Amino acid sequence: MNPFTLRTDTAEFIAKEHRLLIGDERPEARDGERLKVYNPATAELLTSVACAGKADVDQAVACARRTFDDSVWSRMKPVERERLLWRLADLVEERADMLAELECLDNGKSAGVARAVDVQLAINFLRYMAGWATKIEGSSVDVSVPFMPDAQFHGYTKREPIGVVGAIVAWNFPLLLSVWKLAPALATGCTVVLKPAEDTPLTALALGELALEAGYPPGVVNVVTGYGHNAGAALSSHPDVDKLTFTGSTPVGKMIGKAAMDTMTRVTLELGGKSPTIVLDDADLGVAAQGAANAIFFNHGQVCCAGSRLYVQRKHYDSLVADITSIAEKITLGNGLDPQVQMGPLVSARQQERVFGYIEQGREDGAIITTGGEKAGPGYFVKPTVIAGVDQHSPLVQEEIFGPVLVAMPFDTLDDVVRLANDSPYGLGASIWSNNLSAVHKLIPKIKSGSVWVNCHTALDPALPFGGYKQSGLGREMGAEVIHHYTEVKSVLISI
Ligand code: NAD
Repeated sequence: MNPFTLRTDTAEFIAKEHRLLIGDERPEARDGERLKVYNPATAELLTSVACAGKADVDQAVACARRTFDDSVWSRMKPVERERLLWRLADLVEERADMLAELECLDNGKSAGVARAVDVQLAINFLRYMAGWATKIEGSSVDVSVPFMPDAQFHGYTKREPIGVVGAIVAWNFPLLLSVWKLAPALATGCTVVLKPAEDTPLTALALGELALEAGYPPGVVNVVTGYGHNAGAALSSHPDVDKLTFTGSTPVGKMIGKAAMDTMTRVTLELGGKSPTIVLDDADLGVAAQGAANAIFFNHGQVCCAGSRLYVQRKHYDSLVADITSIAEKITLGNGLDPQVQMGPLVSARQQERVFGYIEQGREDGAIITTGGEKAGPGYFVKPTVIAGVDQHSPLVQEEIFGPVLVAMPFDTLDDVVRLANDSPYGLGASIWSNNLSAVHKLIPKIKSGSVWVNCHTALDPALPFGGYKQSGLGREMGAEVIHHYTEVKSVLISI
């Protein structure tokens, strides 16, 4: 039983028959399969959605292809694409509270946090990308061709939309990750087939409906809900998809990347992480303790760039671990619909088991669990956990746990912490906590990660590119960079 009263629009949305969105039709999956959706806070069935298979994905891609080639969309003026993105942003803003509640029910996160972070970042990014629709430029190039010494040329480059985009996203920020894919595709004039994660399909379906309401021609945004091994695999290997944009685990990202190379399908991969939080001797320790706690416990640690490895310069190691432990102990766990709750459940029983498995492994290896280390029910809760006394080579330090589990280690010199921070297959984010400008600037160029934050962590802005070094991915989302990932550059040379 859900003891919290839902908003009327949320309850109405949940009660819908959730089918696929292909063009302006809402078909069931061809084979009639349905996918059950659970509320992770209660482990109760929430609703079900159509479970697409290969035939449904084929239909969605064919629709996206027809729409891409169709003159209504391909000839739409940039200023009109800008207007549509603004309209979509306005609609997301109008429905923000409902979308936040849906995210809470589907994913487990606090509805308040979803409203303030997930939905707000999605709105901001739609508006940021709206501005780009009218600013996609090529360049004029002075050209001389050695074997045509007498000829004169007009040389220029132009950027063209890449075509049909297959977008596959993870469950940790279902709406926001969908918008990270959708907004640049729509700004540049692509069409999209979006496949949300099987655990959290609801806000992607809502977003698809809002795109139609905003006035996008049917077929520009298509949504297929279903499993990764089925609908996801069909989309990522589809010969008529021009670009794949994937957010998810590194193993699946590698499979998708390898398959994409067979057809040279363009690909952006946003993958896992094991980001270091580095606290230097001179840091403001109160700020650093709260910052390090937020870096790992925000979104229950289910953040690709979560600060999951804490390195503290030895002098303050014990006191900082004690402070973070005490912050963790004060975090209120519960149903994300409760405004008092700071941390909800993990997304699924499977994720709860996976995270707990790492804690058990730490326990067996003799690690010191300073707080947490337990499950809680009836939903899929894991208490905020801090683990000390682990070795740099331990799987707890090397592997992505993707839950509210912090591993803490001391270090002595800046060189030591560079070596330790970079000793990871991942390279998504890192934060440095210090007031020593000189030390900070020494560290920034040495840390191998796509983002470095100083005295903050997971601070995102649409204008700053986000993505990974090493096995954290390929390509970037957001910022001016993203335009290159959704367009092809064409060189034109005219002999005059
Ligand atoms: P996952 O790789 O299991 O699933 C991600 C998506 O891929 C889902 O939609 C899933 O259905 C689909 N999928 C699964 N198998 C597939 C296959 N064989 N072919 C095609 N699609 C397939 O990842 P997850 O457990 O849902 O998400 C957690 C991971 O996502 C973590 O590793 C996290 O770090 C990463 N992530 C990265 C970023 C980033 O921006 N770098 C952001 C969020 C999450």
